[in-house]
Amino acid sequence: MKIPLLDLKAQYNSIKEEIDSAIRGVLETQSFVLGKEVESFEKEVAVYCNAKYAVGVASGTDALILSMKALGIKEGDEVITTPTTFIATAEAISHAGARPVFVDIDKKSYEIDPALIERKITKKTKAILPVHIYGQCADMDPILRIAEKYGLKVVEDCAQAIGATYKDRRAGSMGDAGCLSFFPSKNLGAFGDGGMVVTNDARFTQKLMLLRVHGSSIRYRHDIIGYNSRLDNLQAAILRVKLRFLDKWIKMRREATEIYGSLFKGTPIVTPFVPVYNVHTYHLYIISAPSRDKLLEHLAANGIEARVYYPIPLHLQACYAGLGYKRGNLPISEWQAENTLAIPIYPELRRDGIERVVGCIKEFLLHGVGELI
Ligand SMILES: *Cc1c(COP(=O)(O)O)cnc(C)c1O
Repeated sequence: MKIPLLDLKAQYNSIKEEIDSAIRGVLETQSFVLGKEVESFEKEVAVYCNAKYAVGVASGTDALILSMKALGIKEGDEVITTPTTFIATAEAISHAGARPVFVDIDKKSYEIDPALIERKITKKTKAILPVHIYGQCADMDPILRIAEKYGLKVVEDCAQAIGATYKDRRAGSMGDAGCLSFFPSKNLGAFGDGGMVVTNDARFTQKLMLLRVHGSSIRYRHDIIGYNSRLDNLQAAILRVKLRFLDKWIKMRREATEIYGSLFKGTPIVTPFVPVYNVHTYHLYIISAPSRDKLLEHLAANGIEARVYYPIPLHLQACYAGLGYKRGNLPISEWQAENTLAIPIYPELRRDGIERVVGCIKEFLLHGVGELI
């Protein structure tokens, strides 16, 4: 029995009829770029995220880029973010012309460490871009306090955390903007690329709506230089069906992690740390383990898919060599990249699958450490 990291086929099979009928509905209209499904989906996501507005765009990456642009981030500015994230977070800052400034993460939660932010603020700092990594929120209150003190914007990267809460507040509703991704593997995944920005700011919303259609609100009149970055009607129709199941799927993920947690008790495996103020959505289940790389080989040899998120923290990426960071600058993120791994997690993962994953890891801990064939 092979166990994948994520089983999208199982998810599709469980809602096939609703999805297929939603797709047929759009095919009947032949309306593909933006459209009625997108409008309805935007309203539903705004409600779900407890935000006033939502603007559908072409991807999570674009949600971040357009947010940076709409907030007026530009050349010469600096934006503070975390090195422990997908490259898109920092790319958005760079595409706006600004410089990403990386702040190390908390050793337990792996989220940006708010205690280290203030010393990185300069006259050029314009925004903080916390990432709600792996499916739970960064510690937002101190971040929002610092932002207020220095007059900085806050953009939440919620690509992995739709539905997560921080002190009963939804991911995406706390800063100036919340950026969602509907990349297929995300907890709410499309059948292709898609993204959305949620916000409570009407003017910012207007700006995003201009930016996503070539800076135009009236056809062939272009007020600002924009982009082609729109959510497809077909994707919105699919996502509307899936949104109805999202809370149930999150609950099933959480149940799976309870089983993991109980089975890992008494082992050297460190399971995800969830601060009391957070409800985790477990987009990824990240553990730290001794001899991580050998464990990865052992899992692969036994048909269990596991992966490192992320093997190179962003400050050490080749594309950011010009920023002048060196190994040792952000030690916690570097430690995290070398010692943790994601093991299978998805709503349809059942107890027998979880037991096999944990059994395989325990076998490695007993016999395999340091001497794997
Ligand atoms: C997936 C992801 C993105 C980018 O989303 P896309 O829809 O793939 O463009 C940005 N930030 C984080 C943290 C992500 O996981």
